[in-house]
Amino acid sequence: MTKSGNNRVGFVSLGCPKALVDSERILTQLKIDGYDIVPSYEDAQIVVVNTCGFIDSAKQESLDAIGEAISENGRVIVTGCMGKGDDARAIMDLHPKVLSVTGPAAYEEVVSAVHQYVPHTPVHDPFADLVPPQGIKLTPRHYAYLKISEGCNHRCSFCIIPAMRGDLVSRPIGDVMDEAERLVQAGVRELLVISQDTSAYGIDTKFRTGFWNGRPMKTRMQDLCEALGELGVWVRLHYVYPYPHVDNVIPLMADGKILPYLDVPLQHGSPEILKLMKRPAAAEKSLERIRRWREICPDITLRSTFIVGFPGETERDFEQLLDFMQEAQLDRVGCFQYSPVKGAAANELPDPVPEALKQERWERFMALQQDISAARLQAKIGRTIEILIDSVDEQGAIGRSSADAPEIDGKVYLDGITDLNPGDLVEAEVTHADEYDLWAG
Ligand code: SF4
Repeated sequence: MTKSGNNRVGFVSLGCPKALVDSERILTQLKIDGYDIVPSYEDAQIVVVNTCGFIDSAKQESLDAIGEAISENGRVIVTGCMGKGDDARAIMDLHPKVLSVTGPAAYEEVVSAVHQYVPHTPVHDPFADLVPPQGIKLTPRHYAYLKISEGCNHRCSFCIIPAMRGDLVSRPIGDVMDEAERLVQAGVRELLVISQDTSAYGIDTKFRTGFWNGRPMKTRMQDLCEALGELGVWVRLHYVYPYPHVDNVIPLMADGKILPYLDVPLQHGSPEILKLMKRPAAAEKSLERIRRWREICPDITLRSTFIVGFPGETERDFEQLLDFMQEAQLDRVGCFQYSPVKGAAANELPDPVPEALKQERWERFMALQQDISAARLQAKIGRTIEILIDSVDEQGAIGRSSADAPEIDGKVYLDGITDLNPGDLVEAEVTHADEYDLWAG
């Protein structure tokens, strides 16, 4: 049976562990961009062949694989060690129908070629998608996303992810750790752990024991965090729910094993609205968890997202949300105005909030949070912080601290400092702050 739907990519990966790292990075990026990786030529809309050019027999195997993909599918992108110099020319001579040829570690080019030939038709859920609708720019080489599971066991009423991607399926912990280790060996300095619910990791497997480098470990958030903490790079956790067992990973943050940063999507502060949203955590419990986390690790940065104007939200509910924000004193916050997502259960709820009121509440919410964020950043002036450099130009370097996830949080500007490279880790004193960003030198 042939699969229908959009964005289906086939992938043939040949060669050594280095080539495998390239394949994994390309696959992770394609999955983040909304492409499905399918196992057969007939289901795929395009096939990527990652080649190996190490010895003649490997080259022949690569050429054969390209030939097979051309005859079985017809639309083929070639990358990897055979994708440069004479080998690349040999590929084009033998297989002129190949759409694009790039060399090893050409993640960005391969992903761009896939986007070009199989234009992306995303089904976006603004409240629960792991990336913004415009997509993220391709991951620079010094940080990488580590996807630990697919799907979700919750049924939040505004969300269509479970209907689209099914229930939670956790990747075996050994596979996740192997991927993480290879990424670090390939030069990655920061791993961003993503899923729909990172705290639920392993529940579907009943925390099955897996193996990493021969060592038994459970498929569980804590074991994963402990092992990732041994890799010597920044480890940042996204999409963690405020469950009691999350308390167990906070000491790893206090000890500097993983970044003192938690991205906890809370969505609201009114118990009634959370009930209508069918959210997995209650507001008072969330505040209790936040207090507990700050007791264990006072330096923890907390990021969250919220929705204002959900159907049925009264002025009282909204004020409860503002009280919650005042109490929680979160460092980083994103806020959406509710809008229906096709297929979501919340579309059936009564009492929609008028657009003008949604806008007004959003502005009040943002004004309060800006003051909170600004005060929390001001308190950092005079402190020496670690900064991971993202880019450098003639004006200076721009990086991020442990408190800043790429794309969604703030930046740290090192004006006039030009002798650094992306991926460098430096220490500097914070000299200035605004509502979002820091300046250091
Ligand atoms: S936790 Fe809720 S919002 Fe997040 S993916 Fe699952 S159902 Fe959607």
